[in-house]
Amino acid sequence: MAGLAGLGILKSAWSQPLFMKQIPAPNGARAHVENRRLLNFAEGRIKLAAWERQHLHECEVCQAMVCVFMRQPV
Ligand SMILES: [Zn+2]
Repeated sequence: MAGLAGLGILKSAWSQPLFMKQIPAPNGARAHVENRRLLNFAEGRIKLAAWERQHLHECEVCQAMVCVFMRQPV
């Protein structure tokens, strides 16, 4: 799980209100990282691609997803 050390940003996202509703992407821009990949990433099974890491830094939706997955006692 050492690769998760750089995800301190997630903590700030966690303190924000949860958004279960769909938020339209600005400019209809890029797609989110696949939930399945976020799950695998949260469990330390894969490393995200460069664009996925970049997206994760900028995307509150994906950050929240990772937070949820990381709290799943699988
Ligand atoms: Zn996203």
